[in-house]
Amino acid sequence: MTALYEFREEARAWLKEHCPDGVRGPGQVHTGSTKISLSHPDVSVWLDRMAEKGWTVPTWAPEYGGAGLTSNEYVVLLEEMKAIGARPPLINRGTQMVGPTILEFGSEEQKRRLLPMIARGEGAWCQGYSEPGAGSDLASLRTSAVLDGDRLVINGQKIWTSDGHTSEWMFMLVRTDQAAPKHDGISFLVLPMDQPGIEVRPIQLISGHSPFCETFFDDAVADKRDLIGEMNRGWTVGKRLLQHERSGMEMLVSQSTERKQTTMVDIARKYVGPETGQLDLLVRNQVTDYEMKARSLQLTSRRMVEEASDGRTPGPVTSIMKLVSTEYEKMQAELLTSLRGTQGYGWEGDAFSTPEIDGTRRWLSSRAASIYSGSNEIQQNIIAKRVLGLPD
Ligand SMILES: Cc1cc2nc3c(=O)[nH]c(=O)nc-3n(C[C@H](O)[C@H](O)[C@H](O)COP(=O)(O)OP(=O)(O)OC[C@H]3O[C@@H](n4cnc5c(N)ncnc54)[C@H](O)[C@@H]3O)c2cc1C
Repeated sequence: MTALYEFREEARAWLKEHCPDGVRGPGQVHTGSTKISLSHPDVSVWLDRMAEKGWTVPTWAPEYGGAGLTSNEYVVLLEEMKAIGARPPLINRGTQMVGPTILEFGSEEQKRRLLPMIARGEGAWCQGYSEPGAGSDLASLRTSAVLDGDRLVINGQKIWTSDGHTSEWMFMLVRTDQAAPKHDGISFLVLPMDQPGIEVRPIQLISGHSPFCETFFDDAVADKRDLIGEMNRGWTVGKRLLQHERSGMEMLVSQSTERKQTTMVDIARKYVGPETGQLDLLVRNQVTDYEMKARSLQLTSRRMVEEASDGRTPGPVTSIMKLVSTEYEKMQAELLTSLRGTQGYGWEGDAFSTPEIDGTRRWLSSRAASIYSGSNEIQQNIIAKRVLGLPD
């Protein structure tokens, strides 16, 4: 019996015994936030059990809250979770963005202090990068941090802070040297959100939802020991985090793709019908095109998971995945909407089913995917310069 086979048996038995019914099938996934009410107590039980096992961050070392799994074991674990319909125990910017960044740039003290907390899902994280006047041109950011003894005192404003109002922690880029060239005077730090110097104002959208916020800093305080990497060398750290963000986002899209693939065929059958003819041929072509793109994206993302788990950190190539996966996400939402015909444009009311209303919202929100985490035009610039080596 191979070690991998034994691991599969062990994982299967453990999951069968410990995965509660309330987290099998579609539903809420824990973000670590204490400010979001849970739909079922099992969501929290599942997080605690998986964290205890080290399986919220399976490939991290045990001393940092992980289980030290190899990439193959990690893939097996995902397959066994999928087989019983188990949802991920935790999805947040801690495990997917700042955690991997601390693993790479943090001191040993920071790793031992911050990573186990992230692995246990103790708090949700938000990202303080964009500012009014510093979006695509992020290095123009002006929010300042001034060293005062053991503390950094922060003043300025961030914008589009997703989940700022439900997060306990922020990782952010700040200007720590006003005189240096713009990429050289930036530092990367983490700080708690619940403090007097931080005011979070949710931005209400036309839908009534407030997924992101304006965040104001008025003498907010960060501990000097929470500077990740060297002072004024934060641009390198911040850029690497974006690469983790882009690869993580792609994996999420691809995981949800697996769930939606059957749905796409089902939806075509349900709304368009099996009859032959011109319309049917067109639909068949669209669904086939979609499925082929979905499969190749899944395979490529699986390769990326394996590479990341083998200790190789993601590079500029993540820009390709960001570009492709977000364009694919838009295509998927558009196809679902068009297959549903007039039922694909429902916003509320009894005339539309819940999946139809969800589909309309997903179709509209998918437009944002090619903007956040650096717009797709910026990804094309990165690919041109850093992957293809074209001149500026
Ligand atoms: C849903 C959503 C969630 C977000 N969450 C966060 C978050 O949690 N934290 C955070 O810090 N930020 C967040 N953002 C902000 C996001 O990172 C910025 O919107 C993005 O970087 C673009 O910046 P901007 O909006 O200022 O647009 P601009 O930079 O003003 O760009 C406007 C347009 O010009 C194009 N453009 C600009 N420069 C170039 C160039 N050099 N070459 C070619 N085209 C160019 C852009 O592609 C875009 O189409 C979020 C955005 C969205 C939509």
